[in-house]
Amino acid sequence: MSDTSKLRTPNSKLNLAERDKKVIWHPYTQMKNALPHIPIVRGEGVYVFDENGKKYIDAVSSWWVNIHGHAHPYIAQKVAEQLNVLEHVIFAGFTHEPAVLLAERLLPILPGKQDKVFYTDNGSTAVEVALKMCLQYWDNKGKPKTRILAFKNAYHGDTFGAMSVSGRSIFTDAFNSLLFDVDFIDLPNEDNISDLVAHISTLTNTACFIFEPLILGSGGMLMYEAKYLDELIVACRKAGILIIADEVMTGFGRTGTYFACEKLVNKPDIICLSKGLTGGTMPLGVTTCTDEIFEAFLSEDKLKTLYHGHSFTANPIACVASLASLDILLQEETLANIKRVETKHAVFLQEIKAHAKVKAVRQTGTIIAIEWETGNETSYLSNLRNLLYAYFLDKGIILRPLGNIIYILPPYVISNADLDYIYGAIKQALEEI
Ligand SMILES: *Cc1c(COP(=O)(O)O)cnc(C)c1O
Repeated sequence: MSDTSKLRTPNSKLNLAERDKKVIWHPYTQMKNALPHIPIVRGEGVYVFDENGKKYIDAVSSWWVNIHGHAHPYIAQKVAEQLNVLEHVIFAGFTHEPAVLLAERLLPILPGKQDKVFYTDNGSTAVEVALKMCLQYWDNKGKPKTRILAFKNAYHGDTFGAMSVSGRSIFTDAFNSLLFDVDFIDLPNEDNISDLVAHISTLTNTACFIFEPLILGSGGMLMYEAKYLDELIVACRKAGILIIADEVMTGFGRTGTYFACEKLVNKPDIICLSKGLTGGTMPLGVTTCTDEIFEAFLSEDKLKTLYHGHSFTANPIACVASLASLDILLQEETLANIKRVETKHAVFLQEIKAHAKVKAVRQTGTIIAIEWETGNETSYLSNLRNLLYAYFLDKGIILRPLGNIIYILPPYVISNADLDYIYGAIKQALEEI
């Protein structure tokens, strides 16, 4: 018991990046040739600061989660207060004010009529729950359906169910043989919409259609029009297919409206939320559904229960962070900031769209994506991402290109000056790289 020799004490001769390298395995990182990870010591607004005091603009909202800026004092205060009251309690058999209040405030602002909230702890698990709700819905109704419809380049998370309904890519390559079979369709456009609708009308064993509304994030910020998504949803409803909107990335103002599905006439049965939910402060996931779905699980028969839950389901601190983030989101000033970013992006888009190195540029709300022209040189393409990443870091901007696609996805509080600085750096990169 008193053997302390195994306790690892930090080696004082090493700096933090060196200590990190000895003990940490980072996400989405080939550790063999990874550059040293930059130690961040503090955040404020759109900035994070490294241990040498260098300031970085967080132009990707720390993997798309941060919407109001770092270390927001209001969120911090609410979280601190809650920590002294109740940090966590089992959510089966017990409940608490922050979870109930968050559901009460969230449901009325969601697109369509959403009636119940199921809590999880991240985006992938919010998706897992949505898929289970749909598959078991049909099973509980005595009409089992086993297939799922999704988009080819979709990204819905990294757990096995979420991976299965995501497009097959280098991310899934090692697991493809174990992923369940999914019907993948192309993104809808003017040319293919009638074929897609015809295809959907032939589906008889499909439980649900899951999609990222208006923009496929990890797939390369691929955008498509609400009116075609509406047509797909109508076709699905006719074929008895439930509708899941994965708003994990698009939720909470990212696309210009509070939720991307506000732009649809036909609303989803189920909505998945995470990322911006807590303002990017801590992990929390939510899957909401209609009473129609919920009621299919009400029964004297135990087998009709949704047997799913996570240890930290509905964590009170995360719920309080979400309530604080909602307070800020619903302020007029935040909506004005969202519109301001949207307008600035649109002007920048016009400025660069004709540049010879710009293959395509597209925008949805506060997200702008620029596709670099790489010609046929695959060697150039494979180096380009790392070149661009390092180029912007050097200039104090965190941008993480998806291959040859650079995107800006900033916290809404970003200033015009910081946006102009990022635009300027991108223009300079277009000349220099
Ligand atoms: C990030 C993301 C997820 C997964 O969320 P995690 O919290 O990273 O598990 C799911 N769906 C979409 C659309 C996402 O962008």
